[in-house]
Amino acid sequence: MSKFAPLVGLLALAGCACAWAGKTQNVVLIVSDGLRWQEIFQGADPLLLEAKNGGNWVEEADLKQRYWRESPQERRALIFPFIWGTVARQGQLFGNRTAGSDAHVTNGRAFSYPGYNEMSVGFPNPDINSNGFGPNPNVSVFEWLNRSADLAGHVAIYGTWDTHADIFNESRSHLVMQVGWTPPPKSGDASKDALLARMFSTTTRFDEGDLPNSFLQVELLDYVRTGKPRVMFVGYGETDNWAHQGRYDLVLESAHRTDAFIKELWDTVQGMPQYRGTTTFIITADHGRGSGPVEWKEHGVKEKGSENVWIAVIGPDTPALGERKNVAPVTQSQIAATIAALMGKDYRKDVPNAAPPIGDVLGKP
Ligand SMILES: [Zn+2]
Repeated sequence: MSKFAPLVGLLALAGCACAWAGKTQNVVLIVSDGLRWQEIFQGADPLLLEAKNGGNWVEEADLKQRYWRESPQERRALIFPFIWGTVARQGQLFGNRTAGSDAHVTNGRAFSYPGYNEMSVGFPNPDINSNGFGPNPNVSVFEWLNRSADLAGHVAIYGTWDTHADIFNESRSHLVMQVGWTPPPKSGDASKDALLARMFSTTTRFDEGDLPNSFLQVELLDYVRTGKPRVMFVGYGETDNWAHQGRYDLVLESAHRTDAFIKELWDTVQGMPQYRGTTTFIITADHGRGSGPVEWKEHGVKEKGSENVWIAVIGPDTPALGERKNVAPVTQSQIAATIAALMGKDYRKDVPNAAPPIGDVLGKP
């Protein structure tokens, strides 16, 4: 054996595409439910700024003042200043179909449970045909990561939707989980806890299963500051709910606020030594929606185009290629292995059915 053999072995290990040591130590997958790629890349839709199509209660002149400008670049930056001011400058965005970038779901259903399953498990499950499917038989990448000794207890699910407890199989996965209207854990600040408990118990519920994004944000920031998570799922639900209600003005408003919540989370972690410069965010939607004056409200096999989504990534390993144009298609199923790869783990070794990671966002080993 040559005296260089151990060195060669080491180099082979370092060169293995399965698990490489990037700078990322923490990953957050953030979803704004049912937020269309059209708004992300083109900004407010002129057809839906008209009250007869958008169901808007805000006066058209006011709404246009807030969200209408002539160019799509200006319009989208008005709704999403963090995504276009920071993520697009430091990271990458996939899914602008008018620029030759296709991001889509492969589950053939284009509604929520199949989408959350696909992105977190790495492949679609045709048995999942309803949001009321119940506990997920598939193991998500979050549950899988939580099984490794270095991450156990540091993987968390924070979502506005109570069905996330089924999607991430709370009783089997034992992930840290805070979803829907479950009362928030104590933060240690008695007056703040009392106020939050009061708001939880006295606020009229839009839906028994859906917490307002603003309530989740309070719980989320408390947990990030004290719980030291390494891998998180964060699910914001309002963009889907207001579209189903046919209120485009509130879709825009909640999309704008979601962008601000993501910025707040980004700024919070960048202010903490544990996370600064070592944290990657993946931001996406669970499905698209239809288009035109009516079908924008709904999504699924009947509403054409609901399979199209967008995926944004920002973090220390992701080359700053910005808005991707004329690139190979990416799929929702690639997200699971991408999360694992960023954490230095080879998900597909255990789950060969999972789609491969999105190589362009991983940098190079
Ligand atoms: Zn929906």
